[in-house]
Amino acid sequence: MMILPRLLFLFQLPGRVRLAGEPSSVGTSLRVWNQTRGGLLLGRRHSWYTPLRHNPAFPPGWGEGVFAIWESRGLVCVGQLWDPVLSRIRPYSELRGRFGFGVRDLFPYLQVVHYIRSSGLLGDLRGGKTPFELLLGPVLWKGALSAIYRCLNCRGTPHSYMLAWEGGWGSAISWDTWEDIWKEVSSVGIAALLIENGYKVIFRWYYTPQVLARWRGGVNVLCWRGCGEVGTYLHMWWHCGRVRGFWTEVFSRVSRILDFQIPDDWRHALLYWHQLDLARGDSLFCKLAFTAARLALASLWNQAHPPTWDMVEHRLLNWQLLYQLTVLRQGKQHGYAHIWRRFRATVGMSGRGGVGF
Ligand SMILES: [Zn+2]
Repeated sequence: MMILPRLLFLFQLPGRVRLAGEPSSVGTSLRVWNQTRGGLLLGRRHSWYTPLRHNPAFPPGWGEGVFAIWESRGLVCVGQLWDPVLSRIRPYSELRGRFGFGVRDLFPYLQVVHYIRSSGLLGDLRGGKTPFELLLGPVLWKGALSAIYRCLNCRGTPHSYMLAWEGGWGSAISWDTWEDIWKEVSSVGIAALLIENGYKVIFRWYYTPQVLARWRGGVNVLCWRGCGEVGTYLHMWWHCGRVRGFWTEVFSRVSRILDFQIPDDWRHALLYWHQLDLARGDSLFCKLAFTAARLALASLWNQAHPPTWDMVEHRLLNWQLLYQLTVLRQGKQHGYAHIWRRFRATVGMSGRGGVGF
């Protein structure tokens, strides 16, 4: 619940740009968001949900203690100080009953009122909520982000990438399954790189001979690996005779590591199709291994030769180190051991020391 007010910083800005140091995937998200916001008239300069705590308009750290107490009483955003019926800022006397305001809250309350009056917020509050803000309801609640995603996804109208995958499978994929796929990809790992690859594959961002031939006449539609087949998306990722051996090796290795036979099915490798009876840590390792395999494949996307298992294992060893460093930095376990224990045992047995811990 407390994440949402911070996220809603985005709504106040005319078009937030990617900051130095933020991954490129953030830039993509912001570009899509800014287009969506403008196209659907979703936002204004100021939002009813402008947060009190961590508000970038305040001096850094100012009011942190007071706003934390206000949060614990359920007061998190500026809109809650607005009375839409009487079209006015709620007086201090009313907030004593509503949010348990005491004498110590009076001065910060007056400062926030001054901020509302001087920042231009008043006009937007008087104008009522936007349709987008109405979607969120009178108070912030835990499912708000899911509601936003559902709205933006226009549930019931499949996107073209969904239809394309369903065409490859030869059958419809239920909306609930799509939601499971999105959830799986968003929880694949701790680095943006891993999640980004999952999204790119699912949303079919990789160029293929077929796509390029459609865009420009004269471009060869055949697979870049020289197998002689048409280079469709599913062919390049999965069906190509030049990568079948690679995937067979990956599935065999992962099944052996997890001591669980994973069906040789592209939905597992490409769409996080998880209907496997695996423990949570093993399931996460499975997703990481397939992500490593896809990144290895993408690194040789238009080359005749497919990657090898060693390239996949090398990535996994590096990610294991990344997890280890994160554990050290944050001082907590994150289920780290459960994810990597089988992999570490396997690497140890084959005599490949890899990263030394
Ligand atoms: Zn091919």
